[in-house]
Amino acid sequence: MRPPAGSRSVKGRIYAEQLDVSFRLAPFAVLCVLFVVLVVATSLWNSAPRFYLSLLSLATISLSIFALAMCWRWRRMGKPPESRTRDVNLLILVAAAYGVWLSSMPVMLFVGADADFRLLIACTTAGLIAIGMSVSAVPWAAICFSGSIIVGAFYALAVTGEPFYILIAILLALYALFIILTMVHLSKVLLSRIISEIKVEHQKDVISLLLFDFEENASDWIWEIDVEGRIRNPSARLAQIFGKSFAQLDGAMLSALLNIDDSRVKPAKIDELLWKPIANRATFRDCLLPIRIAGETRWWSLTGKATFDSNERFSGYRGVGSDVTAAKQAEERLSYLARFDALTDLPNRTFFHDRLLEAIVEAPSEKSGFAVLCLDLDEFKYVNDTFGHAIGDRLLAEVADRLRLCVDKGDVVARLSGDEFAILARSAAKDRASGLAAQIVTAIAAPMLIEGIKISLHVSVGIAVSPCESPAEIMHRADLALYRTKNEGRNGFRFYDAEMDAKVEARRSLEADLRGALARDEFVLHFQPVVAAQNLKTTGFEALLRWRHPIHGLVPPATFIPIAEENACIVAIGEWVIREACRVAATWPDDIKIAVNLSPIQLRYSDLCAIVASALEDSGLAARRLELEITESMLLEANVEAVNVLKQLQKMGVCLALDDFGTGYSSLSYLRNMPFNKIKIDRSFVKDLPNDKGCLAIIRAVIGLGGSLGMTITAEGIETREQLACMRREGCDLLQGYLFSAARPQDQLQELMNFGARAAAGQAA
Ligand code: C2E
Ligand code: MG
Ligand code: MG
Repeated sequence: MRPPAGSRSVKGRIYAEQLDVSFRLAPFAVLCVLFVVLVVATSLWNSAPRFYLSLLSLATISLSIFALAMCWRWRRMGKPPESRTRDVNLLILVAAAYGVWLSSMPVMLFVGADADFRLLIACTTAGLIAIGMSVSAVPWAAICFSGSIIVGAFYALAVTGEPFYILIAILLALYALFIILTMVHLSKVLLSRIISEIKVEHQKDVISLLLFDFEENASDWIWEIDVEGRIRNPSARLAQIFGKSFAQLDGAMLSALLNIDDSRVKPAKIDELLWKPIANRATFRDCLLPIRIAGETRWWSLTGKATFDSNERFSGYRGVGSDVTAAKQAEERLSYLARFDALTDLPNRTFFHDRLLEAIVEAPSEKSGFAVLCLDLDEFKYVNDTFGHAIGDRLLAEVADRLRLCVDKGDVVARLSGDEFAILARSAAKDRASGLAAQIVTAIAAPMLIEGIKISLHVSVGIAVSPCESPAEIMHRADLALYRTKNEGRNGFRFYDAEMDAKVEARRSLEADLRGALARDEFVLHFQPVVAAQNLKTTGFEALLRWRHPIHGLVPPATFIPIAEENACIVAIGEWVIREACRVAATWPDDIKIAVNLSPIQLRYSDLCAIVASALEDSGLAARRLELEITESMLLEANVEAVNVLKQLQKMGVCLALDDFGTGYSSLSYLRNMPFNKIKIDRSFVKDLPNDKGCLAIIRAVIGLGGSLGMTITAEGIETREQLACMRREGCDLLQGYLFSAARPQDQLQELMNFGARAAAGQAA
């Protein structure tokens, strides 16, 4: 590369150009002057002083030889990049010497000459003045040359004293003025041309330097094609990019060189982005192309603009290209992360939603429609809490792998969140969907070995099949079916049916009604007697809540209590139950107790001790007559604080009963740690008595346990005399069941209070 023009002295460049122009014209001027002087000397040889003529001739010959030598040397050396001031000064000096010598000619010869010779001298002097133009590139040289001759001529004309010559002298002055102005103008024109040339050269250098940098250092390159689409002027960088030699590249068709990877972009798209704009001679920008080079796909970005020649005829295309593979890969990675779950490599909710939308659009053309399966791992929370998140993550990845193996090509398995997965099964009628769900349930149930730990998981599946209006609709249906699966024992699958929607709707309206039920005074307590097994005397009542719904009538607690627990209404309702039960029980005989059921939410989110204390105080009921029933599931969720609340209640003198014993996890450690006074055996153990030997054995064990721990045992659900006889035989303390009475409103309790006496009377009879 040549160094940039800016490093050179501009002044030196100008001098070199001025001298070059001058030295090119100078030889003709020198020879012309020499010829004129010799002609004048020869012509006047007989009429003018010969000494002067000889001196003039000799001096002119010497100066001419010197000047021609200078010109010859300049030609031989060639124009230097720049010249010094000294060189210019030498030219001015030589021109001045010439001028001074030549000006002596009119001074010395004009006055003494006759009319003919005067004419000769005047003409030659005028010619010599004009010769000064040849060095007008260096204005001072021209001025010194012509100026000296003008002064000499003016002097010669003036000293004649003749009016005619004085007139000529005046004309000469005008002529001289014009000559000098022309010289200055010519030198200015030349100077500005030289400066423009220097500027253009400088710009050319800058541009080529930038292009050099662009191609050498950046990932970009320049490309150019002709009218036919053939590569022209390929740079070394372009050859490197294509992996071809200059010769292979120059003249090759661009369309043949671009080996486009059709698997990444459809050919129609390339036509639209690249070939059509080229055909229309339109400018295109950042056209992204997947190019196969050396066995891999690289992404190129091309920008191009049509070029036109000086006659405005289309001459091809020129543009830049860059390899944007790294940026494209980063973008693809980001887009992957936005659509896939990093832990399992499965599509995420967004991606699943998109595919679902596609399936809905295409469904009418598919013969058998499609199915959506929503999956939820049954015990995942337990595994995560027990073994830690690292094992939990490995487990999810294993589940993902098993799901992938279950589905067909074209189906989509996605992880929606935590332990929720979903499957879009294409071309899946109900039969295939149920086959797939069964296969999944079996696959997940097989134990997983993770870091030496054997873990068994189960999955609940809800299925909805097309047609449907929207992804949200079919997901909602599959969710409802999943909800049903979970409610009906988990580890299996259910299909959505329209009835599910109706149930959810009913539940929703019930939920709305429940919010204001307490304020509208729609709750009422019914009471079920608890009798002593030996004499069947009523020892107390269990308060059981009823909701008098204005439309649905009496709603059982199993229906509305779970809803009240979900939306936290249970806290206020529970408080009302405690206060109402105490108030009613306070009106009963002193030996009749009242049992109230508690919800786990009350234990956690209300100040239970304060509520109970105030209910007892307000009603005047003795604490020993109040019994609080707690279910086993409630204990599962109980934390240290909840256990403290129970202990505090017991300190107050309130009885604590473990309700529905045997239905939960039945850990005997509860009995050791918790301050229970009573165990209530769930009615599921009583139901098949006295025939079910297993239940009988359990009841026997519980009664034995109660006896040794000092706890009273109540059996629930006594419906037959056989059950009654059996429980009596086994030595159960208290009994409760429809045999004695179902729960009744407060105003029907009077006869139940005397139940024992009547029964005893009946027995006697
Ligand atoms: P629970 O505490 O086990 O109450 C006993 C349930 O068994 C009552 O059902 C009662 O009507 C029923 N039952 C009694 N004897 C028999 C029998 O011989 N055969 C049969 N098949 N059933 C019998 P209910 O009143 O529908 O209450 C159901 C559950 O609702 C209760 O079970 C209790 O857990 C809950 N519950 C009731 N009232 C309240 C309350 O005020 N607060 C809270 N938190 N839960 C309540
Ligand atoms: Mg109960
Ligand atoms: Mg119970």
